[in-house]
Amino acid sequence: MTQAVHVDAVTKTFLSGSPKNLGTLALEKVGFDVADREFVSILGPSGCGKSTMLRMLAGIIPCAEGEIVVRGEKIFAPRDDVGLVFQTSNLLPWCTVCDNLRLGVEIRRGRKAALALDIIPMVRTLGLEGFENSFPHQLSGGMRQRVTIGQALLMEPALLLMDEPFGALDALTRDTLNMELLRLWQRNRKTVILVTHSIPEAILLS
Ligand code: ADP
Ligand code: MG
Repeated sequence: MTQAVHVDAVTKTFLSGSPKNLGTLALEKVGFDVADREFVSILGPSGCGKSTMLRMLAGIIPCAEGEIVVRGEKIFAPRDDVGLVFQTSNLLPWCTVCDNLRLGVEIRRGRKAALALDIIPMVRTLGLEGFENSFPHQLSGGMRQRVTIGQALLMEPALLLMDEPFGALDALTRDTLNMELLRLWQRNRKTVILVTHSIPEAILLS
């Protein structure tokens, strides 16, 4: 198997701006490797630096100390083949469920590619039938998060980074989406790095 991600001796300190405070050490000499098509979970308590690590992998936070290599290239900025799902949904409030689902593809590959996308199977997978033309404010928090997850999956990124994507969902929806994610992964075998604080979720998925 080839390597999808290589992280070596990554240290990140957030500066506070106050002369008395030296800043927050979020990550210290972190290193790990992820093989291509592997599903890896990062498990840890709140505040241990999981989101920081994922944002650095996504190229949103710069890496000043240590090295991050994604699919053979050092990371300096966000990449088109890397998808990121945050803890909370970030849908456009003036777009319907369908338009929000197509949004990632539209931004990266244009309106034509987005409109050519068959999103009906994804709507079904996410259990959002009947809500295709609803706006985010007409959905529950869990439904909004499901749209966000669908949006990332439709982009078919080679590397999918997920930061506690199911954290805000109820247990039943969470179980369903866990199984669905596993099924999708078994079918497409993309590389996934999932941040979670749920031990059962990490065991099930990884
Ligand atoms: P986790 O996702 O594991 O809960 P985070 O990566 O969000 O943890 O945060 C790790 C540490 O870094 C925490 O102490 C947090 O306060 C700090 N931190 C995270 N982001 C910032 C930021 N933008 N500015 C300052 N400190 C931050
Ligand atoms: Mg976090």
